[in-house]
Amino acid sequence: MRFDTEEMLKILACPRCIGSLQTLSEDGVATGFACENCSVVYPIRDDIPVMLIDESVPRKDWDAGVRQVSAG
Ligand SMILES: [Zn+2]
Repeated sequence: MRFDTEEMLKILACPRCIGSLQTLSEDGVATGFACENCSVVYPIRDDIPVMLIDESVPRKDWDAGVRQVSAG
């Protein structure tokens, strides 16, 4: 499924600070939207951006390979 991140970025904002987001991608596939202000990443799962504060991954964890917050 084609996923137009540029279009998504026009309507998406960080739910925490309402700031603009930066697309993160791996091998040309968008994997998340990062908020520089909050230093968190909102993951894209099955082509669906998960724009929930509770589901956001700290940027340092994301860069270390973490793709979802731990349950506990
Ligand atoms: Zn933010």
